[in-house]
Amino acid sequence: MYWNPGAEKTPIKDLREIQERKLKALVHNVYYYSPFYRKKFREAGINPWDIEGLKDLKKLPFTKKPDLRDNYPFGMFAMPLSQIVRFHASSGTTGKPTVVGYTDNDIKVWVESMCRSLTACSVERDDTIQISYGYGLFTGGLGFHYAGEKLGATVLPTSAGNTQRQIELMRDLKSTVFACTPSYMLYLSEYAASIGISIENDTDLRMGIFGAEPWSEETRKRIEDKAGIDAYDVYGTSELSGPLFTECTEKNGIHIWADQFIAEIVDEEGEPVGEGEKGELVVTTIAKEAMPLIRWKTGDITVLEEEKCACGRTHPRIMRIMGRADDMLIVRGVNVFPSQIEHVLMQVPEAGDHYMIILDRAQDGLDVMTIQVEVNEEAFSDKVSDILELSKKISNNLKSVLNVSARVEVVNPGTLQRFEGKAKRVIDNRKL
Ligand SMILES: [Zn+2]
Repeated sequence: MYWNPGAEKTPIKDLREIQERKLKALVHNVYYYSPFYRKKFREAGINPWDIEGLKDLKKLPFTKKPDLRDNYPFGMFAMPLSQIVRFHASSGTTGKPTVVGYTDNDIKVWVESMCRSLTACSVERDDTIQISYGYGLFTGGLGFHYAGEKLGATVLPTSAGNTQRQIELMRDLKSTVFACTPSYMLYLSEYAASIGISIENDTDLRMGIFGAEPWSEETRKRIEDKAGIDAYDVYGTSELSGPLFTECTEKNGIHIWADQFIAEIVDEEGEPVGEGEKGELVVTTIAKEAMPLIRWKTGDITVLEEEKCACGRTHPRIMRIMGRADDMLIVRGVNVFPSQIEHVLMQVPEAGDHYMIILDRAQDGLDVMTIQVEVNEEAFSDKVSDILELSKKISNNLKSVLNVSARVEVVNPGTLQRFEGKAKRVIDNRKL
């Protein structure tokens, strides 16, 4: 099923032409209407006429998170405020918040993107989508909401939190699709079981769309087994509009709509990587009006696949996000992504779904990484020797993947903290 087959199956050659045309228009537009970009282009010695096509994309400067903070609130806008119909803002854990404005057309582009995406992962008019992402300044809730309604599906805007009520509404109103973070879905399944409700047998839920934090294939399998549903990945960032792209039913990468966004992958020096190589995702918005972004550094590490997908869509795909450049931990000089640790833990059948990574600095100055992981109910044992053996097994597995030693503490089921939104899995005491 396609939402907009003409657009979604556009031949790759034509998509490139569309991108070239829109990119050229964009650089002229921001040069004249965005004080921020005019200054940035001048500093980089770039004239809009220098950009003749996609080959010149790499000449353009990157846009980074501090640019949004430094130009708070309206310095990045390329449209007068009278044309803005909505604001979203991020909380800004470090300093000023960042604000993104939308014209009426920007909202339409966002809704179009999500309608294509939801259809690609099999959401239809008959579905009831329970949206357990936060509503309000956070983009998750409204991003799903508008597209769900446009699609003709039924929307259940529960927003985040109140797990018991989420489960009761899911059962009573016969939700078929659930949208939240993957860690919350695991918690919700566990909570449902504790009050005697099986998501698989007692509800109509058939699929879920999970994102806003990195997760692994092993977590997908766990969610699918526990809840008896299909689990799909969604990608977006608040700066680009919030949730925008999902996997198609092939579950082999997330389609990035190339007529609206140009995706690139760059290395740590900002140079484009070779085909199929891992690096940071950089996105240029070629259909946004209020706050277009040129070469936005997302901080997310992934691989870009340009081959046409088996689903028939010609738009490129990003593979599962391996982590955020900001989330990368340096432990004894080795780069470690929390998602790599999750990947190892979730492959151990005795390990539960919840874990915590704690980093300390020992008196000798060396980093000490401790990983607390719950044992699952079935493997739970009072025998100290069993627990020690399991800790050792996990520790060995981690060492072979990460190339760095970790202390593993296996803890009883239900002892680690649960989260109703994004999970906080890392406590880094080294920065204190
Ligand atoms: Zn596909």
